[in-house]
Amino acid sequence: MKIKQHGIAAAVLVAALTVAVPGGMAPAFAQQTPPVARPAGPPPVSFTVEALGGGLHMLTGRGGNIGLSVGEDGVVMIDDQFAPLAPGIAAEIAKLTSKKVRFVINTHWHGDHVGGNEAFAKDGAIVLAHDNVRRRMSTQQVMKVFNATIPAAAKTALPLVTFADGVSLHLNGQTTGIRHVKAAHTDGDAFVRFTEANVLHMGDVFFNGGFPLIDVESGGSIDGYIAAQKLALTLVDDKTKIIPGHGPLASRKDLEASLAMLEQVRALMARAVAEHKTVEAAIAAHPLKDLAAIWGKGFINEELMTRIVYSDLSRGVNR
Ligand SMILES: [Zn+2]
Repeated sequence: MKIKQHGIAAAVLVAALTVAVPGGMAPAFAQQTPPVARPAGPPPVSFTVEALGGGLHMLTGRGGNIGLSVGEDGVVMIDDQFAPLAPGIAAEIAKLTSKKVRFVINTHWHGDHVGGNEAFAKDGAIVLAHDNVRRRMSTQQVMKVFNATIPAAAKTALPLVTFADGVSLHLNGQTTGIRHVKAAHTDGDAFVRFTEANVLHMGDVFFNGGFPLIDVESGGSIDGYIAAQKLALTLVDDKTKIIPGHGPLASRKDLEASLAMLEQVRALMARAVAEHKTVEAAIAAHPLKDLAAIWGKGFINEELMTRIVYSDLSRGVNR
């Protein structure tokens, strides 16, 4: 997917993520790229593949974390990062199996999760996603928060099979449940749960170790995000391996910490919206200062988190 950026906000974010800041950036986010970042250019991507048992793997490169189910029936892949990375991702898969990718599941429409769709579809994979993923990828999208315009994707990159609530796959001995969660990171998010392997991929409804991006313009909301994380907690136990959209492999405890943080953000920002007439005044008051010291070192910093949640919670408020 080609992405056009204008304005400096996105460029600054991209620069912040590609320049090493000694002691500044949490290692978990060092390779993280915003969903609007142009996928090309140095440094070269190095991939890491972590085996999770039951044929499941987590593959990290640049962009959203990839989940892989590998076995006798072929490969099921969750998300596929940026288009130029597709050959590298395919090479990593080839180290695990001689079988092909049969299904790609997109957890949502952002370019750092769907960029490889076209390449894998051309190689025979069927792409599945929520109805709204196809809908948003089919038309130009604007992310004002990053001053970015994302053009419509090529027809060959669009999900071929879409669902409203969910669908299940039965391959590699895994009951693979794909389940839509409403209005969380976007309006088209899906969780993917591998029951037998006890693995849950949460897409960008979980940034492990950092403030999450809540894409309000794509139908996301902090209340939906909190509700979706609460739902996820009912799907996991102490042994579940959770693949977050960004950040390292997670456990139930990590998810609980993220949820507790978001509930504090919700409360602090509700107060800030009541107290401050403009988002700039709210940012100047630093309502998230203490939380940002722990959670604001990644892609979403204190100012961005304040701006996003303010815009979400002030919707419908007459100002
Ligand atoms: Zn995303």
